[in-house]
Amino acid sequence: MMVGQGSGRRAVTVLVIEDEPQIHRFLRASLTSNGYHLLEAMTGQEGLTLAAVRQPDLIILDLGLPDMDGLEVTRRLREWSTTPMIVLSARGQEQDKIDALDAGADDYLTKPFGVGELMARMRVALRQAARAASGTEEPVFGVGGLRVDLSQRRVFVEGTEVHLTPREYGLLVVLVRFAGRVVTHRQLLQEAWGPGYAQESHYLRVYMGHLRRKLEANPARPRYLLTEPGVGYRLASE
Ligand code: CA
Repeated sequence: MMVGQGSGRRAVTVLVIEDEPQIHRFLRASLTSNGYHLLEAMTGQEGLTLAAVRQPDLIILDLGLPDMDGLEVTRRLREWSTTPMIVLSARGQEQDKIDALDAGADDYLTKPFGVGELMARMRVALRQAARAASGTEEPVFGVGGLRVDLSQRRVFVEGTEVHLTPREYGLLVVLVRFAGRVVTHRQLLQEAWGPGYAQESHYLRVYMGHLRRKLEANPARPRYLLTEPGVGYRLASE
């Protein structure tokens, strides 16, 4: 993947901050074969320095580092950097993922993960960063048979308009804004309901059920409105 224009085109640079050599090997193989330029750090401190000096386009950060807490690295990076950040976490460490997302990480991958999943997360994070930099939002979101026309406030499934309540539509719009990325329960509740509702997870279950019944061909096996167990929801974007 390339960014920039004309003769100034350069490979997208990815900084990997991780202490496990086998993860480095895996990422080196997958990223370089997909045309990314790689920077590698084995500690949090080294990662913070490389991030500042080399200004990568994307950061992949392991939450378990030998010298400092990955969460602390996330917070310190977010003090001055908006570079998209994907954290790596072990299965079962849902609270760590939530904390990292709340601290400003854009998404996470649960170890072990495959190349396909890694590339998809990176594409979404880079696309989102490019959109934020250009300051433009697409007025129409589409994935598969789902279309959300934000300018007209209309939703279509396979070409047929679906009527949503204001609350259902509000929830869907938050997911569209984060399309492809995980949104935590807390983020969703705050964005769709307001600051006083961060703990009301049952609202989400109820309204996500409504949305799935209206938008999914099979609500029990959703294609668009995906559950991230223990963390939140993700609207598919590919
Ligand atoms: Ca580690």
